[in-house]
Amino acid sequence: LHYQPQVDLNTGQITGVEALIRWRHPEQGLVSPAQFIPIAEERGLIVPIGHWVLREACRQNKEWQGAGLPSIAVAVNLSALQFQQKNLSQEVARILQDCGLAPEYLELELTESAVMRDAEKTIATMHALKAVGIRLSLDDFGTGYSSLSQLKRLPLDKLKIDQSFVRGLPDDPDDLAISTAIIGMGKALKLQVIAEGVETAGQLEVLRSGGCDEIQGYLVAKPLPASDFARFAREKSSF
Ligand code: C2E
Ligand code: MG
Ligand code: MG
Repeated sequence: LHYQPQVDLNTGQITGVEALIRWRHPEQGLVSPAQFIPIAEERGLIVPIGHWVLREACRQNKEWQGAGLPSIAVAVNLSALQFQQKNLSQEVARILQDCGLAPEYLELELTESAVMRDAEKTIATMHALKAVGIRLSLDDFGTGYSSLSQLKRLPLDKLKIDQSFVRGLPDDPDDLAISTAIIGMGKALKLQVIAEGVETAGQLEVLRSGGCDEIQGYLVAKPLPASDFARFAREKSSF
């Protein structure tokens, strides 16, 4: 697992990290999740892989806390198949308990395609997860099949503006309109808004002036191995 920092634009502090999986292949080196996650989903292998990711990310976060790093949330991506697992909330609660991690330090990232399938079931699952005390975010927001009437019923904490809308900032008027609208809507719905894939100071500036709460992207740091992240968090306590 690699970890990419998330920075609060008001305080300049690192408030979270996203756990991103890589496959260390003996010949090909690090293989991107974009290459193997779709296959793992197709074969159902994503369920045991995702279970491992959840456990390892929680264990690692607790280890950082034990090493004296400021407490932050770890965000874990959940695929649709995992989200449909029965007893997901019990599994999450058990992992937190085993790791000794307080639930507020875990966030699950869901995608629109995972969440928008069966409305009633989705809402029940999300409420069960919220009851455990963790946070929920909607990843790649605006790229999937999103229904705003359903969005308002979901117990979400955070919207993640997809990097495809961030890429054209600050010059592309359409991307500017879309990202500004997402920030405005998120605020009105009392959700945190984070922009992902932020690479340039120009992108940061329009997001900041538009009222975006947090950013994540190469401008702050690439996804880092756990030990590199710990060093980074110690050295760069503020942005
Ligand atoms: P995602 O969750 O939307 O993650 C963000 C992706 O954007 C990551 O790609 C990250 O490395 C990349 N990124 C971050 N900052 C920048 C930037 O400034 N510029 C650019 N161009 N890219 C940036 P990555 O690590 O290759 O992951 C791709 C996707 O694979 C993730 O998209 C997520 O959907 C999936 N994934 C990764 N880890 C897991 C996992 O443990 N479980 C599941 N189910 N899916 C995962
Ligand atoms: Mg994600
Ligand atoms: Mg994303």
